[in-house]
Amino acid sequence: MIPVAFDYEVAESVDHAIELLGQYGDESKLLAGGHSLIPIMRLRLAAPAVLIDLGKLENLRYVRDGGDHLKIGAMTRHRDLAFNEMVAQHCGIVGYTAGLLGDPSVQHRGTIGGTLSHGDASGDMPSVITALEGSIVVQGPNGERVVKAADFFQDYLVTDLGEQEVVTEVRVPKLNGNTGWSYKKFSRRSQDWAMVGVAAVVERSNGSIGSARIALTAMGATPLRATSVEQALSGAPRDAVAEAAQSADEGTSPASDSAASAEFRRHLARVWTKRAVEEALSR
Ligand SMILES: Cc1cc2nc3c(=O)[nH]c(=O)nc-3n(C[C@H](O)[C@H](O)[C@H](O)COP(=O)(O)OP(=O)(O)OC[C@H]3O[C@@H](n4cnc5c(N)ncnc54)[C@H](O)[C@@H]3O)c2cc1C
Repeated sequence: MIPVAFDYEVAESVDHAIELLGQYGDESKLLAGGHSLIPIMRLRLAAPAVLIDLGKLENLRYVRDGGDHLKIGAMTRHRDLAFNEMVAQHCGIVGYTAGLLGDPSVQHRGTIGGTLSHGDASGDMPSVITALEGSIVVQGPNGERVVKAADFFQDYLVTDLGEQEVVTEVRVPKLNGNTGWSYKKFSRRSQDWAMVGVAAVVERSNGSIGSARIALTAMGATPLRATSVEQALSGAPRDAVAEAAQSADEGTSPASDSAASAEFRRHLARVWTKRAVEEALSR
């Protein structure tokens, strides 16, 4: 379908984008890569009167060393992350996952700021940033604030973003040599959205598991931490993984839809959590 007619503005800076959001209010939407927004406009599930294009904001397209963390500009494209050496060296799960999203055209246009702001529970990067306990930098008329990933995703397609706010940066910790990671995604075809995904960041300690952070994709309205698995694995021997993973679906509320039943998603969460933690331990 063709989207409902809309007006188009080009933001020359983040301040200008904030000003335009103030001018047009809830009639307007920011446009980044357009790979989530345009499809829902074509389905007429969204009909913004004005699109405010962030595409000219090359100053939001970067990966920088922030000391103990990496700073990633909101307009950094998935493809940039998949091939970035600093990301590969310090936080490989981000680059790996960026290289899994959709197909090459999605990766060349879609941005990290767009995928987090969209807040789709089937999105891969929201779970990865949640497992990393990363944070999201947001700018609005009252200045800048930094929101923890755990507080950013609030409901299905609902985030903590205010009406006049723009995501400008994503911050992820640098992982040390004792920390392994894995993102496992189950889908019918390699380029499909996740039926279920599992992001695992696991710290090894003297041959045992020090701590594990696990976030699940498509197991509820937001990325969900598998807290009972995390607790069972804290300080546990490596052979505890299979049993701990059996509680991966505890506290989740997966949907039944045309892709999978809720029960199948629960099964996948358990199996994929085991495999993700095992892979993280071996990395
Ligand atoms: C065929 C196809 C397959 C895909 N497969 C996958 C997949 O397997 N896994 C996956 O995770 N994703 C997938 N995607 C989605 C893809 O990752 C998108 O790139 C991403 O979800 C949105 O990023 P975008 O830059 O295109 O954002 P846009 O579509 O431009 O924007 C999305 C939303 O975020 C808002 N927004 C954008 N940038 C900002 C900002 N800086 N500040 C505040 N709000 C902002 C917009 O207003 C809009 O509401 C797929 C998309 C397509 C078309």
